[in-house]
Amino acid sequence: MFRKEPSEIGKRVLKDSPILAALREHDREGIDGIIRLVEGCDEYNRRVALPRALELDQRMEREPEYFDWVIMREACRYRIFSLAIPESLGGMAGKYMVTGMALAVEELCSACGGIGLALAAHSLGVSPLVASGAMAHWETVLREIVEEEKKGNPVVMAYAITEPSAGTDVEEPEFLQVAKIGMEAKKVNGGYLLNGRKCFISGGSEAKYFTVTAATDRRRPLETWTTFLVEREMPGFSTPRVELKMGQRACHAAELNFEDVFVPQSHVLGFEGDGMANGILIIMAASRGPVGAIATGIARGAYQHFLSWTKTVRGGKRPIDQERIQMALADMQALIQESRGLYLAHSLCGDALFRRAFTHPLFKSAFLLPRKLRTSRAYSAFLNSYYGKSMVNAIFRRFIRDEDITDMLSKASLAKFTCADNSMELISRALELMGVNDSPERLWVEKCYRDAKLTQIYEGTNQLNRLVVYNVEIAGTLKIEVPRPFKRGVR
Ligand SMILES: Cc1cc2nc3c(=O)[nH]c(=O)nc-3n(C[C@H](O)[C@H](O)[C@H](O)COP(=O)(O)OP(=O)(O)OC[C@H]3O[C@@H](n4cnc5c(N)ncnc54)[C@H](O)[C@@H]3O)c2cc1C
Repeated sequence: MFRKEPSEIGKRVLKDSPILAALREHDREGIDGIIRLVEGCDEYNRRVALPRALELDQRMEREPEYFDWVIMREACRYRIFSLAIPESLGGMAGKYMVTGMALAVEELCSACGGIGLALAAHSLGVSPLVASGAMAHWETVLREIVEEEKKGNPVVMAYAITEPSAGTDVEEPEFLQVAKIGMEAKKVNGGYLLNGRKCFISGGSEAKYFTVTAATDRRRPLETWTTFLVEREMPGFSTPRVELKMGQRACHAAELNFEDVFVPQSHVLGFEGDGMANGILIIMAASRGPVGAIATGIARGAYQHFLSWTKTVRGGKRPIDQERIQMALADMQALIQESRGLYLAHSLCGDALFRRAFTHPLFKSAFLLPRKLRTSRAYSAFLNSYYGKSMVNAIFRRFIRDEDITDMLSKASLAKFTCADNSMELISRALELMGVNDSPERLWVEKCYRDAKLTQIYEGTNQLNRLVVYNVEIAGTLKIEVPRPFKRGVR
């Protein structure tokens, strides 16, 4: 509901992100919508995440297979599973979809990086379904997520691109060209047979639906890279194991196994062969900024625990009274503010881009059709046909230009590696200053250190993200070519 005075959380958000305070002068309703999201995440943290984060981290070191479904069920109340689902479908993604997501994950990860990742990875799984414009599945899968969430039942999605023999290689066109791909999708009558393995998949052991990339010809992975919607119930699919993780343990990293998994033609998201541009680069352009927000949240959590520790009396003195600690605290503030500024620069740029498509009357008019028609077989068949997909693509692509999405990818990579490195720098310094002690704050900061480390690795290692920035900004060799509708074979 429209409110004149922001709440205490709202005041904090506006103070910490002055750009949002400035935007609120022009769009109070829009920014207050983001604030309400953050308020929900703050309540979730106090009620659910903070009371169990440390214990869960310790338990999952002993029992990596264990999973706490309470953290997922409780998240339904705050609509966290709908963060990436467009409002037209009853979801929470409005005109500030990327910024809302980023601020929500910063808030969640300020309490626990692992619980935050368990919730954020779901939205990563949802993104290819939204970004590919696979509208035939929106009325089924995305609606199901929204409807079940309202009943308190989390329906989880996961995003699977990494293979045992190819991690960094599947995230960059130049590397994919020479990658040793293990998984293959063989064309058969009516669809594809998927064989192979994916690894390190966040939420993979809990998810019901998966967005999965695979080559239809392993010798030409770049040209044949394709995104599929896979359902857990499909015969031949299994999740045989989870990793013992060093950090963010509350979120499983699972292996996915495919043995002759038949995936119908209707479950190809976008077009066969557009998996690098449509299935990976556009997703990374949107999601690497929020990974920066995950790192920022973990750093903020560590900072708060460190600050509490500096106020405790040790040997008759408080650390905070020493100048070197005061200067360290100021440096930590600088790292957090720089990080937030970078991920917000990315997310606001992303909002401007996606808003053009998602709020356009052409897009909205598709939802004016009666629900019965939208869920009919004939309509689904049309949307899944070559011409149906091309038409939806034409609408999307009209508003998303190659240069804009390439610029967004660069901003996302910049935010991702800077926030992750800043987070590690801040937390390392806090640990050094605390030294070896048995305070509860040190336990938290040590956990934050392990949690933050992983943000340097996933969504492309920081090395890869630096190369992306170089290739876009300096060499000019990396350009996302958004798939063109009605032109077969052009990526
Ligand atoms: C906690 C966690 C969660 C994850 N969640 C998911 C998920 O949900 N879905 C998913 O698909 N994947 C996920 N991953 C996988 C993640 O994206 C990969 O781990 C990552 O891309 C790195 O791949 P790799 O581990 O194979 O490392 P490698 O690619 O083997 O890299 C090893 C090292 O070599 C460097 N390197 C490699 N190639 C180059 C190059 N050409 N130039 C310069 N340096 C290079 C890397 O930067 C890195 O330092 C997750 C990983 C982790 C740790």
